[in-house]
Amino acid sequence: MLIGGHWVDSASGRRLTSSDPYNGTPWVSFPDADRSDVDSAVASARRAFTQWRKTTGAERAVIMRELARLIEQNIEELAVAESIDNGKLLREMRGQVAALPDYYTYFAGLAETSRGSSILPEKSNFVVYTRNDPVGVVAAITAWNSPLLLLTWKLAPALAAGCTFIAKPSEHASASTVLFARLAEQAGLPPGVLNVITGAADTGRALTAHPGVNKIAFTGSTRTGQQIMRVAADRLARVTLELGGKSPNIIFDDADLEGAINGAVSGIFAAGGQTCMAGSRLFVQQDLVGDVTDALVERARSLVIGDPLAAQTELGPLAFTGQLEKVLGYVQTGRAEGARLLVGGRRPDRADLLDGLFVEPTVFGDVANHHRIAQEEIFGPVASIISFATEDEVVDMANDNAYGLAAAVWTTDGGRAHRVAAALDAGTVWINAYRTVSPAVPLGGFKSSGIGRENGHEALASYTETKAVWTELSGISRDPFQLG
Ligand code: NDP
Repeated sequence: MLIGGHWVDSASGRRLTSSDPYNGTPWVSFPDADRSDVDSAVASARRAFTQWRKTTGAERAVIMRELARLIEQNIEELAVAESIDNGKLLREMRGQVAALPDYYTYFAGLAETSRGSSILPEKSNFVVYTRNDPVGVVAAITAWNSPLLLLTWKLAPALAAGCTFIAKPSEHASASTVLFARLAEQAGLPPGVLNVITGAADTGRALTAHPGVNKIAFTGSTRTGQQIMRVAADRLARVTLELGGKSPNIIFDDADLEGAINGAVSGIFAAGGQTCMAGSRLFVQQDLVGDVTDALVERARSLVIGDPLAAQTELGPLAFTGQLEKVLGYVQTGRAEGARLLVGGRRPDRADLLDGLFVEPTVFGDVANHHRIAQEEIFGPVASIISFATEDEVVDMANDNAYGLAAAVWTTDGGRAHRVAAALDAGTVWINAYRTVSPAVPLGGFKSSGIGRENGHEALASYTETKAVWTELSGISRDPFQLG
């Protein structure tokens, strides 16, 4: 763990192990931090904050650009660590890591150019300006599915704002965050500005409950997000929460079919469905249901399942045993509810896959929107096809869900595309596309999918407190008993 510029073990000496989900082999161990380690990390971040907050945006930008350069030089090592840890395809993790430098350079640009405003209020004897002060010490709790991307969505704006930072990656995928912290040191981040502690949920609990933490930035399940918000409420710590999803992927009958099928595959089989923005509810207008179902089942049958490090693989294993059990449990639920299992739904019986946590790509037809498989986040390669007749009906069904993270609309009718985008309860709507993100574009959820936004100007603002500074110009003393 990296605490205050020192690489340390946990005070207790206890360690945890992470296994490769492709073959079940333990491949890395790391310290299991307890409360005293959390105290040290917070103390170091607080100490560092006293100096880091005084740096200029331009000074911070120099270090962030150097970090971007170092990431670029180490893409392969970081991506391989992520792929072995969480079983996602190396080609996906490589793409994610290769995108990280853009986030540091984008937020470096915002750090250099960020401005307050000056206000001339109706009181002519005052001039007012605002400052965007850093919120303080940030604790980032991240999930195992995209460790460095989720970290970067928090760290890049936090550094730009002048915050110091404690990262707690998931016990299922900690390795890449530790490797990344070495690069941050090399880039010239002063000791204590970025701290990394490893451990499991108890470590996360101790960190989020710590009075020295000003803001908690979290990505993970809605349940944990709710717990964190309750803990944060006790001291009014700031939170941004990026939580679960059950995103509608809507195909109208005038859509370009090939593009829409590709989007459906990207929505639910990319990342093995282990992504917050998975397009797990596939709404198809009734005339197209047959064609879309046939094409998706065909694609599901032909996906290349195997070693996530191999170039040709299209579907890797799920990340850990709990995920496997959860996904297979939902397959049972779907069948019991009366949905029709069209393909997949089981562990593959190929000899070379028996040690891995694989589930075949799965498609359910005849799904009703009230079925649990259409309402709850499965976080696996399980598509639910739901038929609809009209635009109004699909908007109602799409919004009839607790989540509101993302959505997609496939149509060649431009008017309809934007009408539906406006009507959907979702933080992101893609039109004729799926699963694309950018440092400049805000990302986050409506409803149970979260609070606040990552990326873009909104993200930077969420790591700052706005301060209004009033200056009296006339020197005239006024009635002290009036609000003036
Ligand atoms: P969690 O929400 O439990 O874990 C996310 C992170 O929070 C991990 O670092 C975890 O530590 C930590 N954590 C767990 N409990 C607490 C707590 N009480 N206080 C502070 N930190 C805590 O998600 P899971 O990994 O258990 O996944 C469960 C389900 O959540 C998935 O099947 C999926 O449905 C959903 N999920 C959604 C994600 C998304 O991107 N929206 C991402 C991940 C999960 P540790 O892992 O070390 O226990």
